[in-house]
Amino acid sequence: MTGVEVVADDLVEFRASLDTWLDANGAVLAPGYEGAGELDQQMDQLAKVKALLFDAGWGRAGWPERVGGLGGSTLTRAYLGEALAARDLVEPGLFSMTEVLAPTVIEYAAPALAASVVPALLRGDETWCQGFSEPDTGSNLAALACRAVRTDDGWRVTGEKLWTSLAQYADRCVLLVRTGTTESAHRGITALFVDMDSPGITVRPIGTMHGGAEFSELFLDDVVVPFSRTLGDEGAGWTVAMDLLPYERSTSLWHRAAFLHRRLQEALESAPPEALDPSRLGEVTELLYAFRARSRGTQHRMADGDRLGPETSIDKVLLATAEQAVFDLVADALAPEVTTGDDPRSRRWRSEYLYSRAASIYGGSAEIQRNIIARRLLDLGDDR
Ligand SMILES: Cc1cc2nc3c(=O)[nH]c(=O)nc-3n(C[C@H](O)[C@H](O)[C@H](O)COP(=O)(O)OP(=O)(O)OC[C@H]3O[C@@H](n4cnc5c(N)ncnc54)[C@H](O)[C@@H]3O)c2cc1C
Repeated sequence: MTGVEVVADDLVEFRASLDTWLDANGAVLAPGYEGAGELDQQMDQLAKVKALLFDAGWGRAGWPERVGGLGGSTLTRAYLGEALAARDLVEPGLFSMTEVLAPTVIEYAAPALAASVVPALLRGDETWCQGFSEPDTGSNLAALACRAVRTDDGWRVTGEKLWTSLAQYADRCVLLVRTGTTESAHRGITALFVDMDSPGITVRPIGTMHGGAEFSELFLDDVVVPFSRTLGDEGAGWTVAMDLLPYERSTSLWHRAAFLHRRLQEALESAPPEALDPSRLGEVTELLYAFRARSRGTQHRMADGDRLGPETSIDKVLLATAEQAVFDLVADALAPEVTTGDDPRSRRWRSEYLYSRAASIYGGSAEIQRNIIARRLLDLGDDR
């Protein structure tokens, strides 16, 4: 496969050349398994596709040159994930982890550190994870207890994280720790960038009802983290987290919607016509397009350099609603396959249906998003 010159400034040209390249290289890029594959297979496929995309230039488009990118509009990144999801080349949630974590490290890590680690993530040579949630602290993130204390060697971190996606594969972790008192809540939190092979880290994968152990428990026992790995200032971790979360609700959700479009289309093609209620199908389509319309604005604001904030909670609520509606429809339209089928195709439908239940939990639950919308956007009640 030869490299290509990516024109990252012109979206129309970018889309056309990328599509041509994906068509030409479809056989090399395709996964070598049936159905959704196991998580290990999905991770191998992700690494393969990211390396091919990076080496050909597509995986560098829209990222700053100082971290190995080619510059150009972030809209190219939105389209890249959309095109891969539409062709079923990568699992969209796994692919989008880059969109969640890389912008934060680019913005808050020391420039030399960002320049050395981000290319490895973009190329799929490394996997990163996000250590925010804890056993007693999911929605109430400001109460997190994992603690870091200053020593002569650097930070010493002790505590536990929970639901850390891909921690069992990860080389690095964006970790939130408490460095101040719990009374200082937001101001007592610091963000660290931690090597996952540091002594004192134990990862225990958690099985899920959808079949893949996507996330893990993460135990940190006196883990030494150099001060040079602090993201932003000491005590500024809350700001880092609040800047990261909107990324979790922007480009990555655009990618996910492309996946939902494809799966809805595939369900329509295989469902018996009498199993599809046209008005319900209309409602589900409306939900998907409502999300797309909303998210299109978000993609453009990001491309214009606007700082994303709490308004992305609207995108998250719309996407979660659409995802669950799509798979509720699928579950009814393809009932025997989804509930009892045992071939790879049926297992995939079932797994995706079950996973869609998590859409209103990960990245902040639907209730918390609605609280943010009410308090911070509509000014209804106390903003805490
Ligand atoms: C698939 C998946 C992947 C994830 N990956 C990661 C990851 O990589 N890194 C990471 O750090 N975390 C991750 N999480 C964790 C996720 O962020 C949390 O599950 C989520 O924030 C909810 O926290 P919790 O599970 O502790 O639930 P809780 O906070 O205990 O909430 C339980 C219920 O109470 C509701 N609730 C809580 N507080 C309020 C309130 N004030 N008002 C109204 N309702 C409320 C919630 O909406 C929820 O329904 C992942 C979760 C899932 C499902």
